[in-house]
Amino acid sequence: MGPIGHGRGGGVEVTLCSLVGGLVERGHELMVLAPEGSESCGCPLHPVAGQLQPPWQQQPPHAPIVQPPDGVLAAMWRQAWMVQHHHQVILNLGYDWLPLWLGPCFATPVLHLISMGSLSLAMDQAISYLATHQPTHLAFHSRSQMESFGIHHGRVVGNGFDMDTYRFVHQPEPILGWVGRIAPEKGLEDAAAAATLLHMPLMVWGRVENHDYKAQVMADHPTCDFRWQGFVPPLQLRQTLGRCTALLMTPHWQEAFGNVVVEAMACGVPVVSYRRGGPQEIIHHGLTGFLVDHGQIGALAAMVGEAQHLDRHRIRRHCQECFGMAAFAQRLEDWILSAVAPDLPKTD
Ligand code: UDP
Repeated sequence: MGPIGHGRGGGVEVTLCSLVGGLVERGHELMVLAPEGSESCGCPLHPVAGQLQPPWQQQPPHAPIVQPPDGVLAAMWRQAWMVQHHHQVILNLGYDWLPLWLGPCFATPVLHLISMGSLSLAMDQAISYLATHQPTHLAFHSRSQMESFGIHHGRVVGNGFDMDTYRFVHQPEPILGWVGRIAPEKGLEDAAAAATLLHMPLMVWGRVENHDYKAQVMADHPTCDFRWQGFVPPLQLRQTLGRCTALLMTPHWQEAFGNVVVEAMACGVPVVSYRRGGPQEIIHHGLTGFLVDHGQIGALAAMVGEAQHLDRHRIRRHCQECFGMAAFAQRLEDWILSAVAPDLPKTD
């Protein structure tokens, strides 16, 4: 994790805010432990100082587990250890080895919402240990994400979004959108290639995680009309995304969920993406967007043409029905109760 509100945590930051908002609305009390410099996310926040962890998505699959000196992750979990008796449950949102390993040693139950698919042997082993010994303590965002760890029967909770914060736009501009960290696994080059074929400008929102990669994408697509927006705060993005005719989501990895797919749909924007991972489970082909085979740039471009004819009101409605914050909170609560109080009858 990075400090909340700056984009380093990617989709986890949005998940955290929805989780807090939804659970507080259901009457729960939460306290968030997060790196120093974090912005408020709707409940008391305890900032923790220390060096950030190298993200797993930037490591080779056999990379060892690294704990930097004065690491924030270790400091956060020391703090969690000290306050555990004031809490009924601890939720881990960080995709990191230490909390997975420490969880079973706590007296208070530690539950893990896993935010990415299989990337590293060390993480796979830690998740697989929990899947065997504490299976109710794990949850995933999508089925394909869960299955990437070789787990076939587990808890899938999806994700939730505060629909009121997304501005619906009926009449879009002739521009394409792409949102994500600028990093190789996100596959910006495919969107650039499709935008070039279509002679349409490509609005790009997101934090530059890898500057060499950005330079390479620009060099390889010299005629693409990139409109670089940088990382904009979530609430601002939600007000502008609706301008796009369509959103391209072109990951080169197994996307665990794909928040931006839902967020575009919440603004009425159809999404064209690859038929795999989270986007495949979220996009209703022909209703909210289109799915094409991985790497098929011509098909991506062709489907943008089709997507322009989709009913944007219907996209927004479908999104509200499936991905609201309240329904997400309910699913989280069901998961938490099943793990910590399996004998309690379910709430509404
Ligand atoms: N995001 C944002 N501002 C930006 C670009 C992205 O707030 O300028 C948010 C975006 O709305 C999304 C998240 O960052 O919720 C990225 O999540 P996603 O699941 O798509 O990808 P991840 O980075 O977690 O792999």
